Amino acid sequence: MSSSGFASQNGAGGSYANGPSQNPVGVYPSNQGFMAPPQSGYMNNLPTKGPPPTGPSLYSGGRHQPSPAGTPGALPASPNHMSGLSGPPQGSATPPPANSYYQHPHQPGWSGVTPPPPMGNNASPVPPAMYRTTSTPPVFQNPMQPPAPSVNNAAMTAPPALNVMAPHQTYGPPPSVRPPPPPAAVRGTPPPPVPPTAAVPPPPLATHSDGVYAAHPGQMRGPMGSSYPSLQPVYQSVPGMQTAPQMPPPAQMQTQPQLYPQPSPGAAQLSPSLASLSLQSQTPEALRVVNLLQERSLLPPGAVTPPTPCLPQDLQKLNSSPEVFRCTLTSIPQTQTLLNKAKLPLGLLLHPFKDLSQLPVVTSSNIVRCRSCRTYINPFVTFVDARRWKCNLCHRVNDVPEEFMYNPVSRSYGAPHKRPEVQNATIEFIAPSEYMLRPPQPAVYLYILDVSHNAVETGYLDVVCQSLLDNLESIPGDARTKIGFITFDSTIHFYNLQEGLSQPQMLIVSDIDDVFLPTPDSLLVNLNECKELVQDLLSSLPQMFSKTMETQSALGPALQAAFKLLSATGGRMSVFQTQLPTVGIGALKPREEPSQKAAAKDIQHLSPATDFYKKLALDCSGQHVAVDLFLLSAQYSDLSSLGCISRYSAGSVYFYPSYHKQHNPSQTERLQKDLKRYLTRKIGFEAVMRIRCTKGMSIHTFHGNFFVRSTDLLSLANVNPDAGFAVQMSIDENLLDLQMVSFQAALLYTSSKGERRIRVHTLCLPVVNSLSDIFAGADVQAITALLASMAVDRSVTASLSDARDALINAAIDSLASYRTSVLSVQQPGLLAPACLRMFPLYVLALLKHKAFRTSASTRLDERVFAMCQLKYQPLAYLMMMVHPGLYRVDDLTDEGALNINDRTIPQPRVFQLSVEKLSRDAAFLMDCGTVMYLWIGRNCSPVFLTQVLGVESYAAVPLNMIHLPELDTAESARLRAFVDWLRERRPFHSILHIIRDESPLKPEFMQNMIEDLSESALSYYEFLLHLQQQISK
Ligand SMILES: [Zn+2]
Repeated sequence: MSSSGFASQNGAGGSYANGPSQNPVGVYPSNQGFMAPPQSGYMNNLPTKGPPPTGPSLYSGGRHQPSPAGTPGALPASPNHMSGLSGPPQGSATPPPANSYYQHPHQPGWSGVTPPPPMGNNASPVPPAMYRTTSTPPVFQNPMQPPAPSVNNAAMTAPPALNVMAPHQTYGPPPSVRPPPPPAAVRGTPPPPVPPTAAVPPPPLATHSDGVYAAHPGQMRGPMGSSYPSLQPVYQSVPGMQTAPQMPPPAQMQTQPQLYPQPSPGAAQLSPSLASLSLQSQTPEALRVVNLLQERSLLPPGAVTPPTPCLPQDLQKLNSSPEVFRCTLTSIPQTQTLLNKAKLPLGLLLHPFKDLSQLPVVTSSNIVRCRSCRTYINPFVTFVDARRWKCNLCHRVNDVPEEFMYNPVSRSYGAPHKRPEVQNATIEFIAPSEYMLRPPQPAVYLYILDVSHNAVETGYLDVVCQSLLDNLESIPGDARTKIGFITFDSTIHFYNLQEGLSQPQMLIVSDIDDVFLPTPDSLLVNLNECKELVQDLLSSLPQMFSKTMETQSALGPALQAAFKLLSATGGRMSVFQTQLPTVGIGALKPREEPSQKAAAKDIQHLSPATDFYKKLALDCSGQHVAVDLFLLSAQYSDLSSLGCISRYSAGSVYFYPSYHKQHNPSQTERLQKDLKRYLTRKIGFEAVMRIRCTKGMSIHTFHGNFFVRSTDLLSLANVNPDAGFAVQMSIDENLLDLQMVSFQAALLYTSSKGERRIRVHTLCLPVVNSLSDIFAGADVQAITALLASMAVDRSVTASLSDARDALINAAIDSLASYRTSVLSVQQPGLLAPACLRMFPLYVLALLKHKAFRTSASTRLDERVFAMCQLKYQPLAYLMMMVHPGLYRVDDLTDEGALNINDRTIPQPRVFQLSVEKLSRDAAFLMDCGTVMYLWIGRNCSPVFLTQVLGVESYAAVPLNMIHLPELDTAESARLRAFVDWLRERRPFHSILHIIRDESPLKPEFMQNMIEDLSESALSYYEFLLHLQQQISK
């Protein structure tokens, strides 16, 4: 059971299914998805026992057919849907679950009971595509020198412009091999020596942990096209899981004695008293009944804060910050059946590599982990006595290693529960040599630049080359850092930058069908040694092609060349492309239809036209190469195909529609600012991220940019601090005996300084057994973000209208469940618990978001980019884009202002996104994430116009104003402080457009008024009425 469950995830997420043998993005959900354990779907409609309920909580695809978009169509006709898909695993006797996610397109909801059409053409199941995972012990090729105990990684982290890294605490190893004499208190009872025989041998799969590359580069798959050799999907954390799920593991039974009394918060509190922990602190407000049809002012005056898990205060104090790790449900249902009843999605939202101001860093030769499931010791383990700790994920009792008895912070001995590892839910380790299979590679950066006529005409080369020149000193790395450049049009141009040359030497390869590297050893050069040549090249590049008449674009061959260049070391490719690739492998044809504003179901081509980019990305991922794509284009460039190169290699996608240096200055500003962040932000190479969870739960689907290497392991060729991930979870076994569960994300990476590091985040949440407690802990923003990712997948695997219907049904079903199962007294209206009061609003916002909207005309690339962002942006930034902030700014005061570093930052209240909130005698700032609008009312006060904008009258406000003038007035200072503060809180640049009623951008501003009726989308009030109607049916 468990193994098939885990196997089922290996195709994780349909469109994210791995491996060249499977389909590109647009495939119908892969067979594995349907093999998920019956309970594993979100909003599963097939309870394991008994027939589906028939009450209002019954989720019937046909019944909720509300969308004006109409009935969902059949599978999109894209050929991708039919090619090379392996069928459902053979011999599957159980019917496919009503898996919310992998659902037949004829069922518009998240759940569906129709099995997938047997599209299989393989007699035997294709093994889940994985990298070869070695079951032999890791080869320690190069025992790296142990890091100096006092490494201060503050120095290595270039302070990013937006998030200044404060110096990190660094804890070194114990000062000597022998621990210091124990303090007097414990001296009387010296810890018993641990008999070596007591140690249980590590499970055979221990090497399959994130400590070790699953495959040696030399063993990795070679050319694309064949399936990856794989071993049986494994999950080493659960030996014996198949046998008696409800039985405590043997270790637990042996060591069941009373808990070791502990002075510290943390472990000791895992006592039965938790059960009696009251939810009362949270319940009244979170579950306050709100009639949405009556209560219109839903928005809090400031930011929406995430709910706090109902844990004992001392445990909660140690928990991961919601900024890096949060769950859609801060109270975990005891069973999948209960989860199904709540009709809320269960999943994690992660921002694992976020720039942090506080990050404890530990240097240790022995990183303490559970011998059974390899969980890192964390604040939520239990010390059963002074020498043993119980894993909070698999419940195995482990020995405390001798050196862990010493606390480097207090320099004391005998209090392992006070070690930094047990006091911090987010912590970083400097890894010893067993965490590497080859020496950490240098930071390698390769820039691939489109120099076709079209590219040169946009003027982007000036900006990119200048940004590189300006930031060359700040690029993360060390003395070994390497850099290289490739330019391309219809041919590929390499640059020999070898030390000793008097100037860069350009080498042109015109055979794009069989690309080779002309001088393989001198194309990637040491940045420090060859800096002058690099600077020469960057200074001359923009001019070198200024007269070009070459219009063709051989992007695919250029990428192949780049892959060859980087495959030995891994590294980062930064690709700048300005048009549709036209020649060589990977060439694409225009697919955008002139009028994409037709009905949602007609929107085609959300899936790639070729699998070339995905396959190349998988090869790149295998060699630890990530590809970041900068698309700067006025015309359709097929981002849904090109984007695969970044998506599966764990890269990032940047999009600058209508980029032109002269004609579109705001995009130029954005590119400049984004590049500064991009070039100088922290980077991790050769990364993997593993997510573990308490036994009984499992990962269902991943969302983000990565390659799924195994059931719980993501390959991240690069990891950057601005990447977010989402993970859908399921409950495989009842969690009846547990008071809390934990999730742990471990990110192993090579720093730009060549250190192997592990960043670990652990989140602990209570388990509850009542629907009202589940609802009370619902995190509406996390739910919205997870649903957005799911809906993106649904748009691609089924259709846009299907995704829209599923979003609407998510709101209907959860509110219906709340009404029938939680509310004891029935009352009229559309009722929601206070914690979910914004759920319908956010769903409506998603329906009107560029990714899913049907009303306004939306360019295909812009829609696809919006979808990329929904899957990739960390929650905080995603919500800015989904539900913009609206502030009145013509009357800013210092009342309630923030004071940060001697700056006074006004905090205006947030307004509803409705035109009725605008008043003509005011000015409003709308913050949509990457863009802000400052709307000036026709009768705006002359004081504001003169003191803030520096103009005499409304009519004098220029139509294309993008900067606030720096005037020496209090009003100007306040608004600029506020705008700067908003901008500082995100890693990308926000353009500011100052607009008035006559401005060409006014319609875009108005489109974000999501509470209002638009062209063909409902107003918020109408939407509520629609939900109410469906719920009361
Ligand atoms: Zn464990």
